[in-house]
Amino acid sequence: MSLQDLITAQITAQGPISVAEYMSTCLMHPTLGYYTTAHPFGQAGDFVTAPEISQMFGELIGLALAQTWLDQGSPTPFTLAELGPGRGTLMADILRATRSVPGFLDAADMVLLEASPSLRETQSTLLPQARWIDHIDELPERPLLLIANEFFDALPIRQFVRDDTRWRERQIGLRDNALTFGLGPASVQPALAHRLEDTKHGDMVEDCPTAAPMLSVVAARIATHGGAALVIDYGDWRSLGDTLQAAQNHRTVDPLTDPGKSDLTAHVDFEALIQSCAPCTHSRVTPQGVFLERLGITARAQMLAANLTGPALETHIATHRRLTHPTEMGNLFKVVGLVPQGTALPPGLEP
Ligand code: SAH
Repeated sequence: MSLQDLITAQITAQGPISVAEYMSTCLMHPTLGYYTTAHPFGQAGDFVTAPEISQMFGELIGLALAQTWLDQGSPTPFTLAELGPGRGTLMADILRATRSVPGFLDAADMVLLEASPSLRETQSTLLPQARWIDHIDELPERPLLLIANEFFDALPIRQFVRDDTRWRERQIGLRDNALTFGLGPASVQPALAHRLEDTKHGDMVEDCPTAAPMLSVVAARIATHGGAALVIDYGDWRSLGDTLQAAQNHRTVDPLTDPGKSDLTAHVDFEALIQSCAPCTHSRVTPQGVFLERLGITARAQMLAANLTGPALETHIATHRRLTHPTEMGNLFKVVGLVPQGTALPPGLEP
């Protein structure tokens, strides 16, 4: 049975489903889901993430985290955590770059949050020292340095269309036996009260109900025990409109075609995320290109270029551009940092 058949049968029996339910089934169904079955990353996959583009991304982030660790008095032991590590490339680059920081790796207890058993398997080959948690609450009560790259965009979102002062939830139902979008009945949505200020009748807004509660656990650990978090994702401050998108083979495809066979994501609403982090200080939402330039990506790129010639050199130059240029990932992707109140932000970020 395909996921398409399964979802169709479910809708026939029980009626339309929310976008959030559709997303979580497509991504995480135990046997037919995208992250549980596919090998989505890299040139041969459906999309390429920053750490898969160049080692420079993880190296610079590793050094930024190590600097924060030094700034905070080298707390030992501490948790070195990642949410949704994919193939484990980012963490492996962080480890390589921080080997030269005395004491850092000896003090680090690596903890990964990953829902896909097959990706856990992949991660364990690259990161044999890691252990996995099933729930964010299991983050140990101790100083925490945490990174999440393209994690929050994979969490299921709900979509609502404004109807006067109420909201109709976007749903997925059937027309002529094909999956199709529709709208549920109008209802009051207290979580969207603030969106009545900046929207009009007919506008669509999105809500990611699990994102803020997860980051608030991270913020609580950091506020209590010290450390920092870096969240990197595409999105902006208070997003508007439909940002649900499906990627297959490096192309944007219809999210309702071939469920489970494409990567489904949505833009991250950094305002909603950050509001849950009150016990911490957060940085400005900073474009990835600006962040990486401040961390010295150009100097690092020149160092690596010195050993390259021909096509390898051209590819290397292209990766630098891809990560930083405003028309590529440089502006669409944003970075936000969290630290305990009264402590310095990680390098590359400003209050
Ligand atoms: N950070 C990686 C991978 C990004 S893809 C990179 O930059 O390359 C999203 C990752 O989050 C995948 O590893 C996916 O399996 C994981 N993931 C998605 N939803 C999750 C959830 N609810 N809980 C834990 N992991 C999840």
